[in-house]
Amino acid sequence: MKAEIIAVGTELLLGQIVNTNARYLSEKLAELGIDVYWQTVVGDNDLRIQEALNTALSRADLLIFSGGLGPTMDDLTKETVASVLSLPLEMDIDWENRIVGLFAKTGRTMTDNNRKQALIPQGARLLINDNGTAPGIWLEHGDSVIVMLPGPPRELEPMFAEKVMPLLRKEAGQIILSRVLKVTGIGESAMEEAIADLIRKQTNPTIAPLAKYTEVHLRVTAKTDTREEAEVLLDETEELLHERLGDAIFARNEETMADVIAKMLFATKLTLATAESCTGGLLAHYLTNVSGSSDYFIEGLITYSNRSKINLLGIKPAIIREYGAVSEETALSMAENVRRRADTDLALAVTGIAGPTGGSDQKPVGLVYIALASPDGVSCRRFNFMGKRENIKERAAIASLNILRLYLAKHYG
Ligand code: ATP
Repeated sequence: MKAEIIAVGTELLLGQIVNTNARYLSEKLAELGIDVYWQTVVGDNDLRIQEALNTALSRADLLIFSGGLGPTMDDLTKETVASVLSLPLEMDIDWENRIVGLFAKTGRTMTDNNRKQALIPQGARLLINDNGTAPGIWLEHGDSVIVMLPGPPRELEPMFAEKVMPLLRKEAGQIILSRVLKVTGIGESAMEEAIADLIRKQTNPTIAPLAKYTEVHLRVTAKTDTREEAEVLLDETEELLHERLGDAIFARNEETMADVIAKMLFATKLTLATAESCTGGLLAHYLTNVSGSSDYFIEGLITYSNRSKINLLGIKPAIIREYGAVSEETALSMAENVRRRADTDLALAVTGIAGPTGGSDQKPVGLVYIALASPDGVSCRRFNFMGKRENIKERAAIASLNILRLYLAKHYG
């Protein structure tokens, strides 16, 4: 199936709103293994909507419209599609009653143009809108499927996920299953090199990399006759990817790095403390995004100034004087001392220069030391992160989590 997304709305062309519906729909269609070849944006103008429809019909077999289904004069999508395909519009009495009922319930006066939302092209299927008054429309025309969805994302997204995706799965006549493997700690180009031949060779399942901010997502999609067959294909490909990428793969699907760490800490009953400087609490924020984290996360200190490193963590002033607050020696000491102070099994410490000021030739902006103290001793890694202040903070926090994850996987995995 070749799909085209057509977003209707002059606001989109004027830059007043961002086309998040196209992003959402493309992402979901990829999940279904349906190729999106075109995204079009067209204003609220019937001639140009006609043109967009005819062009899309000539090159795609799944057309998904977003927007222009509302009650006002400039909502033209349904009317234009019906007129181009010479389909009369028919009143869906149930939906009309629903609109009337909704207005009565909320005590608002219903203007006549609201009824037009219950008009459906002959032969089309109405898609119930649980969050608004404009229903969606599923229309089969020759070999093509035309789907029309309301513009507001809070209406479009649940309608697509709950009503349209099951119909598309049926249409494809096959089971389409996909799985996302999340990769970190290896650059995008290094990763591509490691698996380029797999990406090129694979047709079923397909492997599609997507670079996210601090991680790369590999979406593996299989199309088969049964769910079991699809699972087997996904398992096989996942194993191949594991052979190439090893523990750079840290999670699947919705799982975050903090979730993975939480699982391992719950299982091992190990406890954790943190001492942060340049990340300003971001590391503790990620750790505490997991419900139940108080079971293992005992204490997180933000020791931002030298004074606090000395007073709260007991870092020897001589260490800071001799090596500086951003140094391996300070990071090691921070990790050891917070571990002792909080009486935990593990401790992470991070100190660095987030910039944009404060860098020097020896210690440039982006230089970060991350130390991990554990029953096996204390170790430190040095990083040079790129980007703006927030990027460096975020990369440093994620790298700290990754160090902890790799330690747990190695010793307790
Ligand atoms: P309504 O019943 O609300 O009129 P509609 O189907 O007619 O819905 P539009 O009038 O085109 O949709 O858009 C309504 C609102 O939905 C817009 O003001 C905007 O906030 C949002 N919206 C529309 N299209 C998009 C899009 N492509 N991406 C994100 N948001 C959108």
